[in-house]
Amino acid sequence: MRGWLGLCLFGFACGPAEAGPEAPPPDPPGKKVCTTADDCPGAACGRDNLCRPSGAGGAGLGELCADDEGCASAYCDDGVCSSLCGSCPSGAICSLDRLCRYRLAAPALSLGPVTTTVDGAQPVSFEVPADTGAVVVVIEDPDRLRVAARRLSRPDGMVLTDPFDAEAEIIPVASYPGAASVLIANTDDPRATPVPGAWQLTVGSYDPANFETLAPVPGAIERIHVLFEPLAEAGGTMDLELLLAPGTQLNAASATSSQVLIDLLDEVQVRLLEPIGAELGTVRYRDLPSDNDVIEDGNETRRLCEAHSRPGPHGTSINVAIVADLAYTSGHAGGSPGPPGIYGTPASCVVIERLGGARSTGLLMAHELGHYLGLRHTTELNGNGDPISDTPLCAAGTPVDQCPDYENLMFPTFPLGRELTLSPAQIEIARRSPWLYERPL
Ligand SMILES: [Zn+2]
Repeated sequence: MRGWLGLCLFGFACGPAEAGPEAPPPDPPGKKVCTTADDCPGAACGRDNLCRPSGAGGAGLGELCADDEGCASAYCDDGVCSSLCGSCPSGAICSLDRLCRYRLAAPALSLGPVTTTVDGAQPVSFEVPADTGAVVVVIEDPDRLRVAARRLSRPDGMVLTDPFDAEAEIIPVASYPGAASVLIANTDDPRATPVPGAWQLTVGSYDPANFETLAPVPGAIERIHVLFEPLAEAGGTMDLELLLAPGTQLNAASATSSQVLIDLLDEVQVRLLEPIGAELGTVRYRDLPSDNDVIEDGNETRRLCEAHSRPGPHGTSINVAIVADLAYTSGHAGGSPGPPGIYGTPASCVVIERLGGARSTGLLMAHELGHYLGLRHTTELNGNGDPISDTPLCAAGTPVDQCPDYENLMFPTFPLGRELTLSPAQIEIARRSPWLYERPL
């Protein structure tokens, strides 16, 4: 169909001799030409725009494939079963490349690369569409410098983030080695609403070894991606890739019948997913090599995430590694939020250790996933609060178990065995995360 239309370059006369309504080309003998899957009742529309039987392999949309025959849609795109857009299945959108995809797995707006100096970089601009509920900017540097947003401003020029000016941050951001994200908004401050128009962002790169202060260094940021989550979509489905170190006594082969993992995931549902209107989607299990049983420090955590994170069947999975001993803490999330849909970076997973009980481990996982969706600690150990108005702040010197936020899921040293909760504003932020793939309101 597109063969002859493609010849109609500017200045060339071509096409049918008779003027008239655009006539579709005749179907080749024994074949039916299609534009979308809807043109092929009971069959699939292949990449050659011909109806063909569904692939014998029968893998569904978003599942992994080796070739077209392995997909029910008869279209294997870059290792993932896809479909030319007609009526996309629930949760999928028609992507720019005319394939049905989950939004998080579709090509994002790309702003990079950008060269950074000690003074920052040239600002980049991105247009926020109307009716946007959340925006995530992902800054990625394969050179593994520490990266972060250096300045973020709204279309009217109001600065929401600038760690180098004297003002308090309206949208606080964190730096992270290799990849870092900015969530608009990780706060319920009305000034941070993702209003439509041209936003401006300056990125920075920093000394990766310096955790205490931001020490700018020159660098090159290869990619800046911007993801938009429509206002009409909240809650949704969370896919997980659970990576199991052998020292946990958990393994992929017996995972689906493991009472420990069943109870663990149930705790994640009760404490995090149900409150934010989300549900578990596809959960897959993989075994980690035994050298991941004990993780000594943050660098080892980041190496694990870089080496073992995978997109999962829909390109949207959050990777969580469960190890026997996370020697320096109990749980570590690769950012708040974690970089949605980006894999193989030091920030591309959450690592937790297996605690004594399945429910305790699930509570720990719910807390770290809360970070990965964009929530910060209600009161940091240094006394700073989160940017959320309805979470209490624990005053300096208060015994931990008397802090007013002690029973919030995002308190940094939360108690086990209690019914930890999220505040309404925390719920509203988490349920708008692009990590949750779409389920219309
Ligand atoms: Zn935490």
